[in-house]
Amino acid sequence: MGKVTGFKEFKRQNETYTPVKDRVKHYKEFTVPLSNEEITKQGSRCMDCGIPFCHSGCPLGNLIPDFNHMVHQGEWQKASWILHSTNNFPEFTGRLCPAPCEQSCVLGLIEDPVSIENIEKMIVERAFKEGWIKPQPPKTRTGKTIAIVGSGPAGLAAAQQLNRAGHTVTVFERDDEIGGLLRYGIPNFKMEKEIIDRRLRILEAEGITFKTNVNVGVNYDVEELKAFNAVVLCGGATERRSLPTPGIDADGVVQAMDFLTQQTKVLFGKKVENQVLATDKHVIVIGGGDTGSDCVGTSNRQGAKSVVNFEIMPKPPGHRSPTTPWPFWPLQLKTSSSHEEGVERNWLINTKEFITDENNKLTALKTVNVEWKMVPGERPQLIEIEGTEKTWPCDLALLALGFTGPENTLADRLGIKTDARSNYKAAYGKYQTNIPNIFTAGDMRRGQSLIVWAISEGREAARQVDIYLMGKSDLPTKDEAGDLVALH
Ligand SMILES: Cc1cc2nc3c(=O)[nH]c(=O)nc-3n(C[C@H](O)[C@H](O)[C@H](O)COP(=O)(O)OP(=O)(O)OC[C@H]3O[C@@H](n4cnc5c(N)ncnc54)[C@H](O)[C@@H]3O)c2cc1C
Ligand code: SF4
Repeated sequence: MGKVTGFKEFKRQNETYTPVKDRVKHYKEFTVPLSNEEITKQGSRCMDCGIPFCHSGCPLGNLIPDFNHMVHQGEWQKASWILHSTNNFPEFTGRLCPAPCEQSCVLGLIEDPVSIENIEKMIVERAFKEGWIKPQPPKTRTGKTIAIVGSGPAGLAAAQQLNRAGHTVTVFERDDEIGGLLRYGIPNFKMEKEIIDRRLRILEAEGITFKTNVNVGVNYDVEELKAFNAVVLCGGATERRSLPTPGIDADGVVQAMDFLTQQTKVLFGKKVENQVLATDKHVIVIGGGDTGSDCVGTSNRQGAKSVVNFEIMPKPPGHRSPTTPWPFWPLQLKTSSSHEEGVERNWLINTKEFITDENNKLTALKTVNVEWKMVPGERPQLIEIEGTEKTWPCDLALLALGFTGPENTLADRLGIKTDARSNYKAAYGKYQTNIPNIFTAGDMRRGQSLIVWAISEGREAARQVDIYLMGKSDLPTKDEAGDLVALH
């Protein structure tokens, strides 16, 4: 423990943001880091709890009190080593994770929790700056070959672990760049794409082969996968949800993912035909989650006339709801940096119709207010409130309604079984599908989730592949009990 009285002496401090008026003019990250002295104090707030709930709150089982202590001691290189022992890509989670660890931090019971995520980001950024993060190619090769399908965080984590175990790894990606949703889903202002490229240079130097524009099962025959000793399917859960609403086919109703992907492609000089732009438009974002928030930030950067957000669920409480007490993931209102940049948020509202002109061009949205009727033992019922119909002027409606599950192409072509939610099925804890040498991890196995879970799944699946091929594995695994008690 860094400083016995640290948590009493110092208040939580986080990195800050540049002013809204400046940051909406560009697509770069806009955080202002804490000084070395400040972050050292933040590390000293950690109480080194006998039972560190932060540790089990983290899907990766990150050794949080240990790296907090090292930061307080100024031992940054040791902190980086500890951090990387459980997390291949702390620069992704340090920027983008909703930080379930902080929600289960014991200090959070009486004070603001330790700023774990920020400390994580500072450690990894320092490590890159100092040149401590170097390629670690394996000393010997096993002669076994692995194909990874999909290059999101799950595929990249699995690739790095399997390569370190000495296997020869090829990653196939259908897009023109590596990274999955990190590349074209999450906007550049949340994570600059150089952060991915910087890590990819390390992975390539370690000996991993990356092949882009290869859509396995479409322009690459699945039969060719038979040349590999094992395959890990990490294709994500990218089947988009739509709305069964009149006018859904109107010109001006656009899937959020198309809107976000196009903006990032344009930013990097890629050719995009007829980019959908929010410029000078009344924009309505339907869906109040992370994707919706990213659409709000992008619309404001493009110069929308107005930005409105609809969410069908009730407004969560400003503080932790009694139904989700510490140390569980809290039901609580989240206000993102994108929300702060300007949006009118509406809850308990349902879209009834997309209204168009004679050319099928979107002009307005018709909505109704709703409430949820809860009957014990039954599914919640959505009730429309009479007399609450309203028409909203709208030139661009962005559908940010989440994803229904993975696409089924690979399952169909390879004969992989899926579960009731259309996720690719794998034996519990083994990540192994019904075809013994084919494994699956990340959103493809668990449904739309988080980066931290994707990395965790990629790491654990890699270990199972290694055991399958070699009969044993020296790759690390998180404590199985830790997996069972993960608090969300
Ligand atoms: C807009 C948006 C914002 C988000 N923001 C956050 C956030 O702030 N924090 C957070 O923790 N999570 C966030 N998420 C969720 C997070 O991005 C995902 O949970 C995570 O990326 C899943 O990783 P994955 O590797 O399983 O799949 P993905 O990242 O989806 O990667 C799958 C890859 O597989 C490729 N692929 C699929 N099929 C094939 C095939 N047949 N052949 C070749 N390649 C194929 C796809 O092109 C894709 O590149 C966000 C998601 C979205 C959509
Ligand atoms: S729960 Fe919070 S205070 Fe306790 S060890 Fe973890 S980070 Fe430190």
